Amino acid sequence: MAEIPRRPLGVNVMKYLVVGAGFSGATFARLKAEQGHSVRVIEQRDHVAGNAYDSQKMGEPMVHRYGPHLFHTNSERVYKFLSRFTEWYEYRHRVRARVLGRVVPLPFNFLSIELCFSGRRPDEIKTAMREVFKDNQRVTLRELKAQESPHLNKTLYDFVYENIFENYTQKMWGMDLEKLGPTVADRVPLIAGYDDSYFTDRFQCMPAWGYTQLVKSMLDHENIEVVTGMRWRENGREYDRMYFTGSIDDYFGHYLGHLEYRSMSFELKSLATGELRDEKGTATMNLPDHPKVTRYSDMAVITKFPGENTVVVVETPGPYVPGVNEPYYPIPTGEARAMYHRYEKLAEDTEVGMRVRFGGRLGSYQYLNMDQAVAQAMKAAEEF
Ligand code: UDP
Repeated sequence: MAEIPRRPLGVNVMKYLVVGAGFSGATFARLKAEQGHSVRVIEQRDHVAGNAYDSQKMGEPMVHRYGPHLFHTNSERVYKFLSRFTEWYEYRHRVRARVLGRVVPLPFNFLSIELCFSGRRPDEIKTAMREVFKDNQRVTLRELKAQESPHLNKTLYDFVYENIFENYTQKMWGMDLEKLGPTVADRVPLIAGYDDSYFTDRFQCMPAWGYTQLVKSMLDHENIEVVTGMRWRENGREYDRMYFTGSIDDYFGHYLGHLEYRSMSFELKSLATGELRDEKGTATMNLPDHPKVTRYSDMAVITKFPGENTVVVVETPGPYVPGVNEPYYPIPTGEARAMYHRYEKLAEDTEVGMRVRFGGRLGSYQYLNMDQAVAQAMKAAEEF
C-alpha cells in the first residue's frame, strides 16, 4: 500500500540533500521523508546500500561485494527501525583462524588454547583464566596483559599477540597495534570458555532478502528521489540542508590535508562447496600469518545457501589511493582523529556547520558498525 506523505500542518518543508546511499544516508533520508520533508539522495556508485551492497547470480549464494556484513546490535530501537523494512533470519557468525598450521576458533577460546598449547600448559592456562574470569567472559588483550598470573600475562598474551594480532594488524592497517587506539583490538577479545560466537549482541540476524533490498525499501518513499552514478558537487545550493556521508576532507577539497583511510581489495571466487573440504561450515577464515590476505568468507554459510556452489570473498587490505581505489576504513589513531577534529572545527566556524551535517563511517571518520551508523543517522534526523 502506498504511503501517504505526512506533511503535518505547520511543518516548514525543507529540501534535504543526502550524499551517499549507504545505511547512514538511507536512514537519514527515510526519517526526513517521514517528517514531511523533501529529500534527494545522490550516490556516486551505480548502486545503493554502500559497502553492504549484495547481489546474487543464478545457482550461487547472495554475495557481499565489499566483504562480509554481519548485522548485530544491542539497540532495540535500531533493530525495530530496520525491521520495518525487512524480515530477518537468525545468524550467529563463527570465525576460525589458521594458526601455525592449525585451525582454531576465534575469538581465541578454551578450545583454541587446547589446540595451540601442548603438555600440561592448556590446563594451567585454563585454570588461571577460570580463577579470574567468569565462564565465557570476554577478555580484551589489554585486560589479559594486566593479569598477575604469568600463564595469562606472558604465555597466553604473547602467543595471541604474536600469532593472531601482530602480523594481521600490520597487514590490515599498515602499522603496529600499539599505534592504533585500543578499541581496535578490543573488537576481538578472548573468551574464558568454549563459547565460539564472534558477537555477543542481543540481536544477531541477517536481512532475509539481503542488504540491498533492505536499503531499497528504506528509500522507497514518495518524498525521496534517488540518483545513482552521480558524484556530489556543490551545485548552486538547490537544498536547504545536507547530510553528507562521503569523506569530510573530500567535502572541503582537502583544504587541511588528506585524511588517511585503509582500502581493501575484494576478490570473488566461485567454487564448488566441496572444494572447501574440512573448512566447510566455517563462515570466515582469518589468516593471521599470510603475507597479504587477511581473511576469506564463505558466502553460502553466511546466507545459508543450500546449493552445491559457493562464492568465497577474499580480502586483501592496502593503502587508500585517491582515484585508484576506495576508502573503506578510517584510521583509528590519535593523529588522524585530530585532523578530523580540525575539519569539524572548520565546519563549525564557517556557515557549513549551519547547513551540513557529516555522518557515517567516512563523514564522521569513525570505525562504525552498521547498527552504529543507523543509530547515528537516527539521532541526526531528530536534531537536524
Ligand atoms: N585482528 C587481528 N587478528 C585477527 C582478527 C582481528 O589482529 O585475526 C585485529 C585487527 O587489527 C583488526 C581488528 O582486530 O583490524 C578488528 O577485527 P574485526 O574482525 O572486527 O575487523 P572488521 O571486520 O571490522 O574488518
